[in-house]
This record gives sequence, structure tokens and C-alpha cells, in this order.
Amino acid sequence: MVSLTFYGGVDEIGGNKVLLEDGDARVFFDFGQSFTMGSDFFTGWLSPRGINGLGDYFEFGLLPKLKGLYGEEQLRFTDVSYVKPRFDAVFLSHAHFDHVTHIQFLDPKIPVYLGVGTKMFLEAMEKTSSFCNYRDHKYETFRTGDKIKVGDIVVEPVHVDHSIPAAYGFLIHTSEGTIVYTGDLRAHGPRKDMTKEFADKARESEPVAMICEGTRMVEKEKRKNYSEQQVEKLSGKVVSSTDKIVFVTRYSRDMDRFRSFYNVAKNNGRKIVVSPKTAHLLDKLVEDKRLDLPDPLKDKNILVYYKRKRSGGFDEKDYYVWEREFMDKMVTHEFVHENQTKLVMDLDFYQFAELVDIKPDPGSHFIHSMSEPFSEEDIEDQVMRNWLDHFKMKFHQLHASGHMNKQQITGLINYIKPKKTFPIHTENQQLFKKISKNVHTIKYGKEYTL
Ligand SMILES: [Zn+2]
Repeated sequence: MVSLTFYGGVDEIGGNKVLLEDGDARVFFDFGQSFTMGSDFFTGWLSPRGINGLGDYFEFGLLPKLKGLYGEEQLRFTDVSYVKPRFDAVFLSHAHFDHVTHIQFLDPKIPVYLGVGTKMFLEAMEKTSSFCNYRDHKYETFRTGDKIKVGDIVVEPVHVDHSIPAAYGFLIHTSEGTIVYTGDLRAHGPRKDMTKEFADKARESEPVAMICEGTRMVEKEKRKNYSEQQVEKLSGKVVSSTDKIVFVTRYSRDMDRFRSFYNVAKNNGRKIVVSPKTAHLLDKLVEDKRLDLPDPLKDKNILVYYKRKRSGGFDEKDYYVWEREFMDKMVTHEFVHENQTKLVMDLDFYQFAELVDIKPDPGSHFIHSMSEPFSEEDIEDQVMRNWLDHFKMKFHQLHASGHMNKQQITGLINYIKPKKTFPIHTENQQLFKKISKNVHTIKYGKEYTL
């Protein structure tokens, strides 16, 4: 008997936790944290206490109380007693927060399978952000096309295009047939050929079921979405038509977007200025030749921005050891101010205070290369606009989504033709029902037998 139980990603975008059971084999696919997790009880600095392990999470039902899943240390202050692992493996589709974060609670004896690139992202995040700790695991890396046997099931990861490199969908070969899990994917990115390959393999396997993401499954999309190519082209226009500095805010792990802005800078005879954090990530990712990313230490088009820290005098000791590696490429606010016409600068919203030092000339440009805010009363959006007004900067919204739209999801399901479809990672499961009669909307914690 094969069954699926969903412990996350149900009626919400993100937080996927899918349990697949086949005979004795029990395997999770993704183990992320939802974006809204616990928001009824926690906000801002009021957050679950690390010292209490899973205690604060169980109090509010934020993680399922499953025996044999969590680490002994994590269960210390809870009413769930520790037993040896009763789960065989956890597979991660990609390194986004909403797919991986809760692996920190898993029993370290349970192996975590992930793409070679995904592991690099996790390591970079642990190194460069103080609040990120995934804890120890038995990590096993895979590449596209590998076949991994876990008990009676065989898991076949197949690469897909998404807004982070090393994203995978899975073909899970069970005793009842193949189950397809899409992970997160898109069909309009620079590597849409990978998504096509996944769709072809999924179709060939004549799946008994498909677990399908539906981030953009909405009645009518209000937000403007471009393709990655369009983002590059339109940003190029902004840069080529000005002699002022151009700032860019993007998702830190979206390397396609980084490449787009790198190209835009280079094609316009400018250099791109990145943070030590981005430099560290690039330095790791260049190991994977297939990603074809520039080497921050060697590439002359990349400069690394050091903000004032501790002594305020840009002393080597002011910075973390991992930051010091790029000091040969160091530029400061003074350099940026003096060379505004020659630069495109990656500047995260949370680093906006640097603008006070940089003093951009009025009429400079700012490209917001992220999703538009969900609500009109978004406080961060208002603050961002206040800063832009203050410095008299021109705003541009240019973004390409990491997800398929409604029409593309419909096309994907009709192409793969699964016998059953389970919508996940969506706020609108009911919209899937219009695509096919074989759609089964999911409920949290309910077991679905195939
Ligand atoms: Zn994602």
C-alpha cells in the first residue's frame, strides 16, 4: 500500500512537507517552513526560543508530533519521547527557505538527500547568516538522473528551472507506480529546457499521481511578470540611458537574476558591486562549472562593497574571516560615490542605510527585481519608497517569477496526464479542479491512499 500525507504546503504557498509511505519505507519530500508559520503567535522579535527546541513549536501545533522523526536534543522539553528513527530519508527539492528550514529539527541519523548545488547553498547560508543553522545530518548528494533506492522505492531526481540553481522535481517509483513531485518550477526561465526534460520523463512514467505546485494558481494575476530575458533587456535600457548609478534589489539566491545584472553592467561598460555575502556564494558556486557563474576573485567586472564595521576604518579585523577573502576587490562608500557613472550596485533593502554614506546623485535609478508586495499597506514597501523619495531616485519594477502561471500549470498537467493530482504550495487548490476531474484537494495531516 502506498500513501501520501501532507504536513505542510497545504492551502498556503510554501512550507512543503510531504510524507510518502510504501510498505516499510517512509520518506519525506521537503521539510520547509511556511512563510506564515506561527504568525498568530509570533511576530517581529517575538519568535520561538531556540533553547526550547521543539517545545514552542509543539505548543502551537506548528510541527507534527511524529515519533522517530526529530532529534533527541530537540525533544528534550516536549512531551514527545525520543525513539530511534522511524523514517528512512528526507529529500530536498531545492534550497529555498520554505522547502528546507525545518530540517534543523530532524534526527541527525536520518539521511538528507539533496542536489550537489543545494548543499553548496545550505553551506553558504550557514556561513554567512548568524540565524541560519541546519545542524548536523547525514547528507547524501545527487545529480539529475540518479536513481536512489530507499527500501522498496526508487527516487529519481530530475532538474527543473526555478529561481535558484540546483532545483529538482522527483519521479518516485513505488510499488503502485510512479508518483511525480514537481517541487517548484517554471517554464519561462533561461533553463526551460530542464523543465521540459522533467515534464517528458514524468509523462513517460505514466504516473499514478502527481503532487503539483500552484504558487501562481490564481483567478487573475495582478502583478506584472516578465521572462528573465525581458528583465535583462529592460534593465539594460535603464542602464544604457543614464549616466547615474543604478541600484538593484533582488533575491539573494537567484543566480539567474545575478547573471542578468552582471551582463547588463558588463555590456554597458560598468562594473557590478556586490556584498561579501554574494561574493562568498559566487565563490562556492563557481565550483560547479555547469552554473557558468563569474569568479568574484578573478573577474574584473566584479567589485565587493565593504560597509563600515567596528573600527569604522575598514580594518581587516573588523570583518568575519569569510568576508576577508575578498578584500583585494574591496570598494567603499567613497569609491562608489566617486564612480557612480561606472557602476551597477546590488543593494539589499536591509542595507539601505549605506545610501547615507554613498550619497547618490539625484535622479539615480533603483530597480526592484523582486515580487511586488502582496498588499497595498505593506510597511516595508512604504519605507522603501520613502528612502527612494528622500534620495530622489527613480523606481523601476522588473521581475521574472520562479513559478509557472495558471496556463502553464494547466498545460503541464494535461501533458503529463497523472491519474490523480494533488495540489500543493498554493492558496487556490479549488482552481486545479477546473483542469481535471482527477484533482484531489488536500487536507493537513490526512492520509491519501493510492
Ligand atoms: Zn522555491
